[in-house]
Amino acid sequence: MRQSREESATTKVRRISVLGATGSIGSSTLDLIGRASDAFSVAALTAQSNVTELATCAVRHRAALAVIGDAQRYQQLKAALSGTGIRVAAGRSGLEEAATMPADCIVAAIAGAAGLAPSLTAVRQGTRVALANKECLVAAGALFMREVARSGAELLPVDSEHSAAFQALAGEAERDGAAIERITLTASGGPFRDWTAEQLASATPEQALRHPNWSMGAKITVDSATLMNKGLELIEAFHLFPVGAEQLDAVVHPQSIVHCLVAYRDGSVLAQLANPDMRTPIAYALSWPKRMYAPTSRLDLVKIGSLTFEAPDPVRFPALRLAMDALAEGGAAPTILNAANEMAVQAFLERRIGFMGIPEVVQNVLERAAQQGMMRPIATLEDVYGADREARELARDVISSSQSASPAA
Ligand code: NDP
Repeated sequence: MRQSREESATTKVRRISVLGATGSIGSSTLDLIGRASDAFSVAALTAQSNVTELATCAVRHRAALAVIGDAQRYQQLKAALSGTGIRVAAGRSGLEEAATMPADCIVAAIAGAAGLAPSLTAVRQGTRVALANKECLVAAGALFMREVARSGAELLPVDSEHSAAFQALAGEAERDGAAIERITLTASGGPFRDWTAEQLASATPEQALRHPNWSMGAKITVDSATLMNKGLELIEAFHLFPVGAEQLDAVVHPQSIVHCLVAYRDGSVLAQLANPDMRTPIAYALSWPKRMYAPTSRLDLVKIGSLTFEAPDPVRFPALRLAMDALAEGGAAPTILNAANEMAVQAFLERRIGFMGIPEVVQNVLERAAQQGMMRPIATLEDVYGADREARELARDVISSSQSASPAA
C-alpha cells in the first residue's frame, strides 16, 4: 500500500461507519460487527432506497445516524426510526454528513460511480477508510490517491485480491519497493469459463448472476462473468501498490482459494489463501493491524485436492484487455471504460443487449471517445464527472443503435 501508518491504540472500541450498509459488502461488514459488539460501535449507516433494511440495521447496531440516498424516502425512514433516538438524514448532503461523521474507520461500500464522492469525502477526513468501492480507483485513481496522500488517510483494501496483495506484501512496499517483481491477481473465470463463443452470445442475466464461488451484488457478479471485474481490479492494484502496469497480471484460478500472488526478486512468491468469503478481507480491514475472528469455513486443502491455474482467454473475454488498454492510455480512458461498462451491464440485466454486447459497447464507446478527443487528463472531480457523463451519453447511443440492429437480446 502506498499509504499506511502504525496504529497506536488497538484496544478501544472502534466506531465504524458503513456507506452502502444494505449491500452485499455492507451486510457482511455488519455481520462481523454484530458478532464483536464489544470491539465495535456504529456511527453512520447509509443506503440508497432500501428503507426497511436500513432501519432494521440502524436499530440492531444502535447507529447514531441513518442516511437514505433517495431523498424522497426521507419521511419513510424518519417514521421507521421514530422514537429510537437515531438521527436521520437524506440525499447527497446526508451522504456527505455520514462520510464526515467522526469514526475510526469508514467502510466505503456504495456500488458504482455513485460511491466516488462519499468515499473521497471519507478520505479527506484523514481517517481510516476500508475501500470496497473499486470505481473510486478506476474512475479517479490518481486524484483519489493524491487525496489519500494529502489527508494522511489510511486506505485499506477490502476487495479480496487487493487485501491478499496487501497481506502478501507485508510492508515490503515501504521497506524496499524495488524487491517486488510482479503482482498476480486471480480470477475465478466466472460461470462462463468453459463456454464457447456461441454459448456466450446467448447467455442470459440469470446465468450470468449464478457465480460459482462468490456471493456478491448483481453488477460485480456480471463483471466477474465478463472478466471486466479483473480488469477493473488490475487498474485498482496499479493505484494501490507501487508497481507499473507491466508488473501486473491476472490468472484464472477456478477454485478461488489463492487470491493474489506477489513475486519478489529473490524468486519467492507469497500468496494469501482462504475460502471465498468476503468476511475474511473485511475482517482484516476492520481489525488491522490485528486479526479478528471471522466465522468463515476453514480451508481444507486435502478436501479441495488440487488448485489449478490457466491463462485468461482474450478472445472470449476481451474485457480484460480493454481495461489494460485503458490503463495504458491513461487520462480519462479508465473513467470512460468504467462508465460505459456500468451502462452496458445495466442494459444486459434489462435484456436490452446480449452478454457479448457488454465488451462490444465498452470498446465502441472507447473508440468513439478517442475520435471525439475525450481522452483528456483528469485533474479534478469535475473532470471525472464530465468524462463519466459524456461516456454515458455515448454508451446510451451505442446501446440504442445496437438494440435497433438486433432487437430483444
Ligand atoms: P450492492 O449492490 O450489494 O450494494 C450497494 C450498496 O450501495 C447498497 O447499500 C445500496 O443501497 C447502496 N447504493 C447503491 N446505489 C447508491 C447510490 N446511487 N447512492 C448511495 N448509495 C447507493 O453492492 P456490493 O456490496 O456488491 O458492492 C459494493 C462495492 O464493493 C462495489 O463497488 C463493488 O465493486 C465492491 N466490491 C464488492 C464485492 C462483493 O463481494 N460484493 C467484492 C469486492 C468489491 P440500496 O440497498 O438501498 O440500494
